[in-house]
Amino acid sequence: MALNSFFDVSDRFVVSFSNSRPQWEPHGFQVVSAMVFNVRVWDAGFKSNGGVKMSNPFEEARQKAREALARTVVKALRAKGYEAVYAPTKEAALEEVLKLIPAGVSVGVPGTVTVREIGAMEKLKERGCTVYHHWDPSLTPERRQQTLMDEYCADYYLTSANAITRDGKIVNIDGNGNRVSGMTWGRNTLIFVIGVNKVAVDLEAAIERCRHATPPNVLRLNGDTPCVHTGHCVDCDSPARICRALLILERAIPSRKTHAIMVGEDLGF
Ligand code: SF4
Repeated sequence: MALNSFFDVSDRFVVSFSNSRPQWEPHGFQVVSAMVFNVRVWDAGFKSNGGVKMSNPFEEARQKAREALARTVVKALRAKGYEAVYAPTKEAALEEVLKLIPAGVSVGVPGTVTVREIGAMEKLKERGCTVYHHWDPSLTPERRQQTLMDEYCADYYLTSANAITRDGKIVNIDGNGNRVSGMTWGRNTLIFVIGVNKVAVDLEAAIERCRHATPPNVLRLNGDTPCVHTGHCVDCDSPARICRALLILERAIPSRKTHAIMVGEDLGF
C-alpha cells in the first residue's frame, strides 16, 4: 500500500492510497497508519455534526454538548414568543442574519462584539444596507449622538446579549442605556445573535455573567474601573462604571417581531 495523495483539511491531513507495496517500510508504514486513524476520527466528526469540522474527538464531544445546550435554549425562547433558530457556527449565524435582513434596508448595530465577530457589518454593507453604528471611530461627538438615534430607529436592530438563562431570559447591562432601550420598545425588527458561551444556569448566574463580561469591555473602551485591575466585579462607585442599567427580558415584546439566533460557538465577551 502506498500513499497516492494527501491534502490539508484545517489542521489535519486527508490521505488516499493505492494497493501497491508500502514504499517506506517499516517506519513510513507506521506513520501512514496514524494518519488513517486521524482521517477516520475527523470524518466521523464531520458527518455527525452536520458538516462542522472537528479538529479532534474531544472537540467533537464539546461541540455536541454546546449544540444540545443551545437547542435547549432555542426551545425555551420559542416558548417565550421569539422566532428562534440554532446555528452551529458563526458562518451559519451570518447566513441566518442575511435570511432575515433584506438588501438595501437600514440596520442599527449597537455595542456588540458578537455581531462584528460573525462578519455581519461587512456583509450587510456589501448588500447595500445602511449600517448605523456609534463605534465608528471617525464620528464626531455630535455625529455620534445622531448615530445612536439612527441605530435605534433603523429598520432592523441587530444585537447580542450579555447573558441568557437556560430557560430563555435575556439579560443585559448597559452604561448609557441605548442598547437596552433598543431591545425593548421599537417599531423595527429586533434580532439577537447569541453565542452558547452566554448561557447561564439561572437569573442570578446571568447577572453575574454580565458583570464578568465588563472588564474586557472597559478595556476595549480604554476605560479604568476597579474590575479591570481585579478581573471581577466589586460593585464599584467609579465614575467610569459602565454597569448602570440592567434589563431582563422575560419574554418577547408582543408588539415587535423578535428573532434569536443561538450559535453553537463562543462569541463576544
Ligand atoms: S460595577 Fe464597576 S467593578 Fe463591577 S463590573 Fe461594573 S464597572 Fe466593573
